[in-house]
Amino acid sequence: MTTTHARARLVLGNWKMHGNLAGNAALLDALGTADPAAHCQFGVCVPFPYLAQVQQLLEGSSIAWGAQDVSKHDKGAYTGEVSAAMLVEFGCTWALVGHSERRSLHGESDQMVADKAAAALAAGITPVVCVGESLDEREGGNTLGVIQRQLAPVLALGADALARMVLAYEPVWAIGTGRTASPEQAQEVHSAIRVALQGLGVPQVQVLYGGSVKAANAASLFAMPDIDGALVGGASLVADEFLRIAAA
Ligand code: PEP
Repeated sequence: MTTTHARARLVLGNWKMHGNLAGNAALLDALGTADPAAHCQFGVCVPFPYLAQVQQLLEGSSIAWGAQDVSKHDKGAYTGEVSAAMLVEFGCTWALVGHSERRSLHGESDQMVADKAAAALAAGITPVVCVGESLDEREGGNTLGVIQRQLAPVLALGADALARMVLAYEPVWAIGTGRTASPEQAQEVHSAIRVALQGLGVPQVQVLYGGSVKAANAASLFAMPDIDGALVGGASLVADEFLRIAAA
């Protein structure tokens, strides 16, 4: 890919709670055959039970994989949780943390999200820290304040930690709704995040956009100077659509 963009491009899929053994194999086969990593860094974040399958099928390919969550704890009496060390055993490169569905459905606080990011980093996994405002918050003129609040404990982890993370701006009102932020709306928030990162001496941190990204809107989002790629939910389950996003 020819690009003058300052940072490497990254496109990550989030399968959410979708998939089955046969369907995953078919999807990964279609993705692998097309070699999307020729265009950008490329990966899929899959449900925990499929990590072994994905590791087996993608080992040696240029497609990376990861999880959709990680515990903030190392080990112990935390029924149902999965530690970063466990993810390492399955070859994970990435772990999403603070996805809006985790924040809203599982009550994850801003501090817990930062703790999870720190746990992933300590194990050598790149956390993809998701932030984003609800529709009410946007309409109330609070978008940047919400992003600032969500990011505060993450930024407090310091420059060394931040330099090994990826951030993702995902407006809640755009996730799974088919309603994408316009490139200008997304850029406004990405630019504010970039200014904060610059202030901490880490302007090179990749900041992804997520929220109903499709082949039809990917190129216009990627044309924005502070958007470094995408976190893709629904469209990552359709090989052809996901590949066209990577090619954009
Ligand atoms: C997501 O799950 O992170 C996401 C952005 O979903 P969608 O692309 O379906 O809006």
